[in-house]
Amino acid sequence: MIKYHPADELLLAHAAGTLPASMSIAVAAHSEMCEICANKLVAFENQAAEEAFSASQLHQDEPQEQASDEFDAMMAAIMSDEHLPSTLVAPSPEANIDVAGERYTLPTALRRYHHLGWSSIGAISRARLPLNEGDTHASLLHIGMNSGVPSHTHKGTEVTLLLSGHFEDEYDQYVPGDFIILDSANHHTPQTHDGCLCYTVADAPLHFTKGVSQLLNAVGRVIY
Ligand SMILES: [Zn+2]
Repeated sequence: MIKYHPADELLLAHAAGTLPASMSIAVAAHSEMCEICANKLVAFENQAAEEAFSASQLHQDEPQEQASDEFDAMMAAIMSDEHLPSTLVAPSPEANIDVAGERYTLPTALRRYHHLGWSSIGAISRARLPLNEGDTHASLLHIGMNSGVPSHTHKGTEVTLLLSGHFEDEYDQYVPGDFIILDSANHHTPQTHDGCLCYTVADAPLHFTKGVSQLLNAVGRVIY
């Protein structure tokens, strides 16, 4: 069962459309896997829509009565339209990615990123999303069976959304859907038995806590 969820502040910001794309994808993909957060999002989106509507009403020059009549008429027209073109409601086709001999189906929030190129070192493979958010890097990260990431901490903040498979660290064991936020106060050594695919957002390189070597530096470059 999913234990780690985005905070309400993140869900609210996502509903209001104010998150950067990297975080918005993380929240949206989590909510596809988590009924609790999906329900909260619906409530927050309704709340955001109501607030936007009442704000726009305040700025109406014309009498409110008339504006409200026009809105009711518009809503009635929308609700009565049962002839929507099917392309508007058809789900987008499934997007699979193949990495390290495994095939994964991406959540809808990540489907457009199924053509990414992968960099690998050992059992770790990473594909970076082309989001152009400066130091903030969003990636798909795959770790092969019975492998892991050397002991490290983070200079900034790292969000990990586990998409498939399992991993564990000094804190807990994680299942698909878990939304984990770590910062420089957390040091951990993630390990996976069955292999896993994650979506990660990091705003600074990893900081390895057990020695410095060319291998670790190379791993750090691949992961961040
Ligand atoms: Zn959730």
